[in-house]
Amino acid sequence: MKSIRIRLLIRISILLFILFLINQILEYKSFREVNINHVKNQSFIVAEIVRDSLTTLMEIGKIDKRELLLNNIKLQHRNIEEIRVVRGDKVIQQYGEGREEEKPKTEAELKVLQTGKPYERLDERFDKVSYVLIIPYKAEPIGKINCLKCHNVEAGSVLGAVYIKTDLTPVRSFAFSNLVQTTLMSMFIFLMTVFVIMKFFHPYTDFFAKLKRGLKKAKDGDFSERVFIDTNDEAREVADTYNETMDKLCHTLTAIEKRVSYLIDGNIQKSSNALKDTYVIVEELVKIYNFKKIVEKDASKDDIYLRLRKLMKDMGIRQYSIYEVDYENNRLIDIDEDEKWCKDIVFTNADQCRVKRTGSEVVSEEYACVCPNFIKCENGEADDFFTCIPIYVGGRVGIILQLIYNRENKEDVKGKLPFLEAYLREVAPVIEAKSYMEKLKKQSLVDQLTGLYNRRFLEEIIPKLSQQVIRRNSNIGILMIDIDFFKQINDKYGHDVGDIVLKKVADVIRNTVREADIVIRYGGEEFMVLLIDVQEGKSEEIAEKIRKRVENTVINTDGISLKKTVSIGVSEFPKDSDRFWQCIKFSDVALYKAKESGRNMVVRFRKEMWEREEY
Ligand code: GH3
Ligand code: MG
Ligand code: MG
Repeated sequence: MKSIRIRLLIRISILLFILFLINQILEYKSFREVNINHVKNQSFIVAEIVRDSLTTLMEIGKIDKRELLLNNIKLQHRNIEEIRVVRGDKVIQQYGEGREEEKPKTEAELKVLQTGKPYERLDERFDKVSYVLIIPYKAEPIGKINCLKCHNVEAGSVLGAVYIKTDLTPVRSFAFSNLVQTTLMSMFIFLMTVFVIMKFFHPYTDFFAKLKRGLKKAKDGDFSERVFIDTNDEAREVADTYNETMDKLCHTLTAIEKRVSYLIDGNIQKSSNALKDTYVIVEELVKIYNFKKIVEKDASKDDIYLRLRKLMKDMGIRQYSIYEVDYENNRLIDIDEDEKWCKDIVFTNADQCRVKRTGSEVVSEEYACVCPNFIKCENGEADDFFTCIPIYVGGRVGIILQLIYNRENKEDVKGKLPFLEAYLREVAPVIEAKSYMEKLKKQSLVDQLTGLYNRRFLEEIIPKLSQQVIRRNSNIGILMIDIDFFKQINDKYGHDVGDIVLKKVADVIRNTVREADIVIRYGGEEFMVLLIDVQEGKSEEIAEKIRKRVENTVINTDGISLKKTVSIGVSEFPKDSDRFWQCIKFSDVALYKAKESGRNMVVRFRKEMWEREEY
């Protein structure tokens, strides 16, 4: 795109050039016409003088002096190159042929003598311009001069002609030099005009250039450019309005940015585009707000962890871990359980985790091994960096988010950190609330004496568990365990000893089955074990293992040493019934059989044990 100045210059130049051209053409044309007319008139006058003089010379009998006359005329009119008098036929008849110069030399002269009409011609050659005029002399009585006095011809007859050739070359040269002068003059005027116009337009073109630059910057979010113009017209008004608008934009944007940055906290990486930066921050704030709203409605802490993972994925953070601090066992629990970024020690001793210990963010950028338990830390060196962010739950570090990054994506992760921290700040109270709720719920589902799940827990998991087992086409073994003659313990040693026995038996059962199996305190001295994904028919074997272990366990308390036995009823879901509660009932029936048959034994439920028609 051409600037206004250039466009204006081109237009003015074209206009002035056309004007100049027209002017020069007209000037030359008029000069030419004026000169030709002048020469024509001069030639006519000379022709008349020659005619009259010749007549006079004839009358006074001095016609032999005519050469003198013609030379004189040539001397008086320096532009006349040639002047001759040509004799017509009638004169030749009367006075003879005359001298050589008086004979017609060109076709044009003959024609004039024949027709009696004047002839004129303009010869314009490169090196020369000449004008030829041939005028016939006719025998006419004009005033005092009467040709018919001497010539024996009828009136109107052509007596001869005068041939006058005028040199116009100097006139043309003069015209050209004139043209050169006017051209130079025009050029000077043109330059002056351009100069004046440019000088007048300079502030405006300058102003437009600045305005253009300012608007371009504003488009990219930089409102720092201001424009000034030293005129007192509309341009000044535009400049003032522009400056005011930019001031307001700057002020408003800075205020928004300040408030919004306050909400995000931390060092947000800024570009030169304030508008874009603010937009990004506002957009993130909206996302954080929505995130919090969604998270609040999540059912469990695990759901929140799932959301955090999705958030990390959306933010493009690929390597990270989420840890939970288990204060009961003073260890860290890795929620992701895929790649571990901490050395094993933190999973057995939470105080080895620097974040848990100090309660503040740990960043490894300055000191690679600021936390020596970072898995990559070897001999005080580490290839990758980490940032561990604490999330407070109940006034202490409850969750730790650990980000891993290398030299290449360091800046990228650091740029995202303030936003991520803002998310975590919002999410922390929700996690805290969910943690409390889960703790409470867990407490309500766990038996305080033995630490085993209680019956309420069983009621809660049965619908889900039975569905999963059927879907997996798997099997659950149900063991109903009852301590034999437990009442006697209470009666003999008191309730406290009874409680200790209960706890011990619970421990034996828990330690005999697999981690994934579920052990429940079903009633007073009754336990239930759910053997998850047990091989069909295997349940009895496991029950027998429990029975034997209890039988062989010596319980020492208050100087008393005693042994107890258990009776176990066994059923399997869905082998015995596709209704879970029915299977539980069957195990209870089998237990009853065991008691009936003498106790300290395992009885597998069989159909014939069920005497009622319906289940
Ligand atoms: P059986 O071999 O027929 O099972 O005889 P038993 O004595 O074990 O059976 P019974 O059901 O008659 O007695 C169960 C006793 O367990 C009754 C109750 O006092 C006792 N008991 C239940 N819960 C607790 C508890 O939490 N602590 C203590 N110490 N005793 C409990
Ligand atoms: Mg009992
Ligand atoms: Mg009982």
